[in-house]
Amino acid sequence: MLTTSLDLDKDGVQKGYIDVPVSLDLSAWSNQRVPIYSFKNGQGPSLLLLGGAHGDEFEAPVVLSNLANGGIDAANIHGQVIIVPALNLPAVMNGSRLSPLDGGNMNRAFPGNPRGSATERIADFVSRELISRADVVLDLHSGGRSLRFLPSTIVPMQTTETATGEIRALAAAFDAPLTVILREPQVETMIDTEVERQGKRILATELGGSGTLSQETLLVTRKGIDGVMRHMGLMAGPDNCDTTQCSKTVLVDGFHHYVYADDAGIFEPLAGLGDRVREGDAVGRLHLVDRAETAPVAVKARTTGFLFCTAGQGLVRRGDCISVIGHPVD
Ligand SMILES: [Zn+2]
Repeated sequence: MLTTSLDLDKDGVQKGYIDVPVSLDLSAWSNQRVPIYSFKNGQGPSLLLLGGAHGDEFEAPVVLSNLANGGIDAANIHGQVIIVPALNLPAVMNGSRLSPLDGGNMNRAFPGNPRGSATERIADFVSRELISRADVVLDLHSGGRSLRFLPSTIVPMQTTETATGEIRALAAAFDAPLTVILREPQVETMIDTEVERQGKRILATELGGSGTLSQETLLVTRKGIDGVMRHMGLMAGPDNCDTTQCSKTVLVDGFHHYVYADDAGIFEPLAGLGDRVREGDAVGRLHLVDRAETAPVAVKARTTGFLFCTAGQGLVRRGDCISVIGHPVD
């Protein structure tokens, strides 16, 4: 089982590591040390901030690094904030979605395995030591190399409406341009399921993508985290969302929301993030540039709503997700 150099029950500011011993070809007794920070001031609400579950999603590592290095005054918080800016550190340092050590996908590795691969052991540590201490988990993702999002919070549908409602309130506090209520198609091994199993609340994000980051998405991220901390009572101050300016909300609850590439080619977008599209509309064209006899193929929306996610890079392959369309929710 993994351990940390921090005493997470202790008040004050602590900076240290989760120690992840791995034995590699080039380093027999290696320790992949994953940075972790704790800011604690007495009893109160507890927030776990996770970034870098996937290594090609860069907003969270930057914003959480800023937060951990001077962005939080422990004396001014009430409760505890635990920050892990680069959870799958080997993947983050490799700029890849999956870990180069074991091919592990951090958000398909939960609840983890104390005897498993590096990725599975980190997931096990998060389940046992971090989720267990948190009231709320903020799992900060972006689109990575292959997807690009309108900056969004993701509300994973819970088994009770009360729980979903509490997470929607967290999303309103984050106040990203869009809130997506999502029934995940592959939820069994995701952190969402473990957090819900432990009776805690999880809000996720998809903040940008294409394997890059921007000043705009960094601002959305930082403002959102501050809003959640105020909403939870960790810090004093008003909510981000007043009655005049709040996040738009959409629902995604089945495969008809997704558009997949039928072939390998270059995707030409015909609709932009945030555009309203109708079922049957062409959201883009696929150029099969290796076939002289084949004209560009229209890629059609399978439902009506707002386009909030698109291909993150020009070249796509058969089966790649190239658009996601959400149904507007009041
Ligand atoms: Zn991700």
